[in-house]
Amino acid sequence: MEQRRCPDCGVPMEPTSLRSNGGFGLVIDTGKRDGMLGKLGLTEAASVDAVCCPECGLVRLYADLD
Ligand SMILES: [Zn+2]
Repeated sequence: MEQRRCPDCGVPMEPTSLRSNGGFGLVIDTGKRDGMLGKLGLTEAASVDAVCCPECGLVRLYADLD
């Protein structure tokens, strides 16, 4: 994954993980309607990559697209 930079601080953002209190990984609907799920009228769900700025604490989320 390419280096992400904080838009406010300009420093490299650190990869972090995001999970619920229950310990389950989060997924996000991508809006893509490809393949089997699309035919069923469902959007694809992807896992989420999170990065956190060590300076200001900003967190950005990226859907893990193929
Ligand atoms: Zn920052």
